[in-house]
Amino acid sequence: MSRLKYLAGYSDETLNQVQNIINEGRLKEVLLKRYPDTHTVRTDTALYQYTQHIKNEYMGKTQPLSRVSYDSKIKVIQHALGQHHYISRVQGAKLKTVNEIKIASVFRTAPEAFLKMIVVHELAHFKEKEHNKAFYQLCRHMEPNYHQYEFDLRLYLTQVDLFGDIYS
Ligand SMILES: [Zn+2]
Repeated sequence: MSRLKYLAGYSDETLNQVQNIINEGRLKEVLLKRYPDTHTVRTDTALYQYTQHIKNEYMGKTQPLSRVSYDSKIKVIQHALGQHHYISRVQGAKLKTVNEIKIASVFRTAPEAFLKMIVVHELAHFKEKEHNKAFYQLCRHMEPNYHQYEFDLRLYLTQVDLFGDIYS
């Protein structure tokens, strides 16, 4: 089971099912059937607009979004799929907060569902710093399929890690 590092935390039953799909050589087929297409949010400008749109729709008046970008330096590991930075600095008499989201560049050519899941996750951190109940409620509010998308995203990362990308 050590091969399934992106799926740590899921039940043994689930891991066994995934391992069977891998052993049968069907992981790519399963993913492509569920997610045949990639999104078209390829540039940082497009990514900012995409993120701002979701934020406007669901998050009401929160801190402004300063910047969103794809970052090839983010190593996608178990719990770090994106990064949200808060930088507070004094500017004149005011304390200015900069909210910056970085998305691992592996998601530049991926299905929209996976990009949405990551963006929703990082936006939810605007309100909840911890991965607590309120955090996941907010994620599900923005994307009802949040948990399914996260699982499928982890399947995709497993595919990329073991056999290579299927969309590029
Ligand atoms: Zn997080």
